[in-house]
Order: sequence, then structure tokens, then C-alpha cells
Amino acid sequence: MYNSFGDLLARDPVCGMIVDESKTQFKLDYNGKTYYFCSAVCMEKFKLNPKKYVK
Ligand SMILES: [Zn+2]
Repeated sequence: MYNSFGDLLARDPVCGMIVDESKTQFKLDYNGKTYYFCSAVCMEKFKLNPKKYVK
């Protein structure tokens, strides 16, 4: 998924917000996949219970 500037976008699995992959500093590798987050709060929530957010 891309925005109008051609940046790659990801969806924050915790809150559902759209995150710019090249700009966010909150990312985490889990099960061979990289997840991006809008904030440290969402990233911490994911870390505590990734199974809740990954299908
Ligand atoms: Zn979030």
C-alpha cells in the first residue's frame, strides 16, 4: 500500500492506524515479518502479546 507521495505504508496491527514505513521508528520483527507501529505504546502492547494481534 502506498500514499500519494509513493511512500510504503503499513497498518499498525494494534490500533489499525496507517503508518509510514520509512518514517516510523517503531518497528518489530515477529515470525519473519516486520510490523510497524504508530507509537511506543502500541509496540509495547504488541511485544507483550503478539498472538493477539497477528492472525
Ligand atoms: Zn498504534
